[in-house]
Amino acid sequence: MYLKNELVHFCHKVYEKEFVAATDGNLSVRLPDGTFLITSSGISKGEVTVEDIIHTDRHGNTRATNKKISTEFKMHLEIYRARPEINAVVHCHPVHATAFASSNRSLNRAVLPEAVLGLGRIALCEYATPSTRALAESLQHSIDYANVFLLRNHGAVTVGTSLREAYNRMEKLEHTAKVLWLTESLGGAIEISKDKLEELYSVAAATYGMEIHPKNRL
Ligand SMILES: [Zn+2]
Repeated sequence: MYLKNELVHFCHKVYEKEFVAATDGNLSVRLPDGTFLITSSGISKGEVTVEDIIHTDRHGNTRATNKKISTEFKMHLEIYRARPEINAVVHCHPVHATAFASSNRSLNRAVLPEAVLGLGRIALCEYATPSTRALAESLQHSIDYANVFLLRNHGAVTVGTSLREAYNRMEKLEHTAKVLWLTESLGGAIEISKDKLEELYSVAAATYGMEIHPKNRL
C-alpha cells in the first residue's frame, strides 16, 4: 500500500534528522475509511519497514499482525477526533524543541516569518506521563486549532492534512528552536514589529491564499 511506504519514508527521515533517539517517536495517518496506519511500538524509526506499520481501527483492533501498536495511539486518536481535517500526526523528541519544552520556554516569537506562518501558535502543554490518557488530555486546551504542540519534559507533536505537511512542521519546529537557541548567545533575537506581522498575514492571504486561524496568529 502506497501510504505504508510513505509512512516508512518519513520514519526514516525523522531518524536521519535526529528528531528521535533509540526507539522513540510514533507517526500515523488516517485513511479515507476512518481507519489508521501507525508505527508499532519499540522499534527504531531508522529501521522501520512496512511490516512495522500497523493497520488499526479506532478501538485498536489491528489486522493480521503480532506487533504491538504504539503506546501513544490514544494521543493520536484524540487529535483525529477533534480535527476532521487532520490526516497525519508526527510525534518526536527533537533536541532543541524538547529543550524549550522542558524549560517551559515558549517558541511563540515573531522572529522567522516562515515559522510564523507555517507553525502558527505553538501550544505549550503541561507535563503528563507518556503513554497515558493524561498525555492526550494535556493537548486539550489548544487541540481545536494548534498544528504544533510542545510536550513539557517530553518532546513535540505536529499535525497536518498530509503526512508531508506534518513532517515539514516538525522539521520547521526544530529549525526554529535551533535558531532561537543560538540567538540567545548573540544577545537575543529581534522580533518582527506588529505592523510587519500584520503585513505578513495579508501577503500570505493574498499571495498564497493562506488564511491563518485567528488563534494561530501571534
Ligand atoms: Zn514521546
